[in-house]
Amino acid sequence: MSKKHLYKLLTYINKVYDLSEKIKGLKDKRPKPKVATSTVSFLVLMGFMLQMRSFNRLNKWTKKDKFKRLFKRGTKLPSIDTIRYSLSEFDLDTLNNMYDNVIKTIKKNKVFIKGTIDDFRVAAIDGVELFESTEKHCNECLTRKDKNGKIHYFHKSIVCMMIGIKPNIIIGQEMLNRKKDSSEKDEGELTGSKRLIKKLHDKYKHFADVIVADALYMNAPWINEILDLGMDAVIRVKDENLFNSTRCDRFI
Ligand SMILES: [Zn+2]
Repeated sequence: MSKKHLYKLLTYINKVYDLSEKIKGLKDKRPKPKVATSTVSFLVLMGFMLQMRSFNRLNKWTKKDKFKRLFKRGTKLPSIDTIRYSLSEFDLDTLNNMYDNVIKTIKKNKVFIKGTIDDFRVAAIDGVELFESTEKHCNECLTRKDKNGKIHYFHKSIVCMMIGIKPNIIIGQEMLNRKKDSSEKDEGELTGSKRLIKKLHDKYKHFADVIVADALYMNAPWINEILDLGMDAVIRVKDENLFNSTRCDRFI
């Protein structure tokens, strides 16, 4: 992205989404931080927008003063260690609030008023596995055993995203919970996705006309919940044939 386009984009998102004010509301739990959380957040956002592959690269650019003009004179920019520390202690509630506001603005500005596919607003839902390891794990990790009996630790997020025309906006995500003492299994994708869709419906009401999902979601209670919320479900039955989808009517 050229400098000119970057400035244009930043001016636009600042004007429409009030980005610089919203970023000031972000917090982390570092005691007496020398670099403001908003500065760290803005720098990380730049890293994402410029599609940087690592924090080391972001660090190099910071050291070369490439972001200087984006900040007020005299603003102290963070080192890579400060970025890591801030992100590991981040207050996710403030980040989620900011994200909710972005989605509400998108809705208010009627970005998808003409639909995303054939006049319908279509959202896809799917699970994404994160941080898989056979060694490292935390207290919240989900687990599975491979055929050799080795335990794999991972996290899983259910993501709901608008599809069809660009931008493909992620309107929400929900982490699956690990098994509780009383249960045998970690929480499944169907349960987590029901929770996500219910939350999205509570927040944004009729956020999509159609929910698209893969064959795992061919499940009567799941489809009925979608229909009860006034949306339709389209399930892709066979992965190898894109045209073999089925529109779901009510299951009894
Ligand atoms: Zn974990």
